[in-house]
This record gives sequence, C-alpha cells and structure tokens, in this order.
Amino acid sequence: MLRRIKSLRKLKNKIVLITGGSRGIGAALAIEAAHRGAIVIVVARNLDRLERVAKRCLVLSGRPAFAFQCDVTDPDAVDKMLDKVRHEVGDIDVLINSAGIGDMREVVKQPRQRVSTMVNVNLLATMYLSRSVAKEMMDQGYGAIINIGSLAGKIPTPNAAAYSATKAGVIQFSNILRMEVADYGIQVLTVNPGPVDTHFFKAADPSGNYLSHLPKSMMISAAQLAQTVWDNVGYKTREINVPGYTAILSWIYQLIPGMGDWTIKKIFDFQQDKRNL
Ligand code: NDP
Repeated sequence: MLRRIKSLRKLKNKIVLITGGSRGIGAALAIEAAHRGAIVIVVARNLDRLERVAKRCLVLSGRPAFAFQCDVTDPDAVDKMLDKVRHEVGDIDVLINSAGIGDMREVVKQPRQRVSTMVNVNLLATMYLSRSVAKEMMDQGYGAIINIGSLAGKIPTPNAAAYSATKAGVIQFSNILRMEVADYGIQVLTVNPGPVDTHFFKAADPSGNYLSHLPKSMMISAAQLAQTVWDNVGYKTREINVPGYTAILSWIYQLIPGMGDWTIKKIFDFQQDKRNL
C-alpha cells in the first residue's frame, strides 16, 4: 500500500486540485506544488485571482495550470467542475480542501445565515468533495486527500464556537475517511494550523481584535505551511499540527480539559481587560 502512496512524494506531472486556491493557504499550496512540477487546478469563486495564481503555477511548473470558478457550497456546481476536470485535465492524484471562512464573534452575536454558510463551506463542501474524489481514487488505487482543519478544531477558543465546530467536524470526518480508504492506497491528511498570515482574519474579524491580542510570533506564513504539507504527502502522516507546540497544547487539553478551559478563559479575560483600557 505504502508503495502506491509513495509515488506522490514526487509531484512532477501529478494532478493536484485545490479548493480555496485563489488566495491564502490554498494559493500557497498551489504555488509550492507547481514549484515541485505538479499540474495544478485551483478552484474558488473569484476568477481573476484564480487566473493570477494559475499563471504563476504555469510559469513555475512549465506544466499546464487551470483556474476553475466554482462555489463549493453548490453540489451541482461541484459535480460540473469535477466533470470538467475529468474531461479537460485527467484523474486527480491529490485533492486539497482549503476553502474556508471564519467568524470571530460570540455565539449570540453571530447571524444565523453566516453560521450556515460557514458550515456549508468548511464542513459540508469538504465532506462532499472528499466523498466524490475518494470514489475515483479508490478505482485508480491511490491518491491523497488533504483537509485543512485548524488548531481551533482541537482546542476551544472563545469567539470561535461555530467555526471550531466545523473544524472539529473536518478532523473527525477525516479520521474516519482515513480508515475507510486505507486499503485502497489513499492517504488522508489533516492539517491543523495555528494562526496563518492570510486574508482569513480580515474577513473573520474585521475589528482586528482577535489578532491584535495574539503574539506576532504565533503567526506562520502560508508559504512555510505549504512546504511542510507537501513534505508530508506520500507518507503515512495522518495529521500535521503547526507550529509544533500546538500538538503539545492539544495533547495537554485532552488530558486535563477542565484546567485547559480555566486557562484559556483566563487568557481571554485578560485580553478583554486590555481591550477595555
Ligand atoms: P483566505 O481567506 O485567505 O482564503 C479562503 C479561500 O477560500 C479563498 O480562496 C476563497 O476564495 C475560498 N472560498 C471561500 N468561500 C468559498 C466558496 N463558497 N466556494 C469556493 N471557495 C471559497 O483564508 P486561508 O487561506 O487562511 O484559509 C484556508 C483554510 O485554512 C480555511 O479552511 C481556514 O479555515 C483554514 N485555517 C486558516 C487559518 C488562518 O489563520 N489563516 C488557521 C487555521 C486554519 P473565493 O473568495 O475566491 O471564493
């Protein structure tokens, strides 16, 4: 089995489809894949941004690169997009579900519509795409599915309840998918980053409160993350938690959740005090 997964360690001429590929982590993953010789397909709603990323990929890889516009919350549009991939590009070797949105407000302040869109983009679309592409990968006898979770799916953070719930869902969905497809030579990798320097927080927390209270040193770059992810594709790696200390934090949280809640609440109360100064 590992022999088949191993073929993905070299990305040259491999077909890689990345949702959320128009910016941020998805775009960085696309660029790093192209740098390693992959044929990249970036998928999102904003065609201008997608085309800019695809052009950079083409230059870097010397291989074709594709920009496919698609709202991942629309299953019919996803089906059409996957048909187009089959006909115009070929069989997918690696799927990355990176499309995602956040909302850093208290539960009671979050508009209902925003919560359902967040569940649709972050969780349902990830499940639907993984399911459709896994079927094809089972037939071809190998592949990799990479789902972008979050540290927030492992450790509770005030003001991110609905977002964290979607990410906990992504992590557990991937854990079970991994078992179901293991015998078909398919790697399922969950990536749980701490804060990454992208547009994400500008949309999720326009006030800037959330980020202004996190130490700058906690933030990693999308390019750095992309390298780590690709270095783990084609191996038995099941989960990536970055920066490294976040793995220890979530392990401690599992052991002593009560103490974990107390500490997290204290930190955020302290931040609340600072905000009110
Ligand atoms: P960005 O805001 O930079 O990018 C989000 C991407 O998702 C864009 O390409 C956007 O494209 C796409 N997207 C959003 N909604 C849809 C939709 N309905 N259909 C198709 N594409 C959509 O965020 P990041 O790159 O930072 O986030 C990527 C993933 O990483 C997300 O799942 C996020 O939850 C996760 N993450 C991010 C962290 C961070 O600190 N940045 C930390 C931990 C996890 P478009 O608008 O063109 O459709």
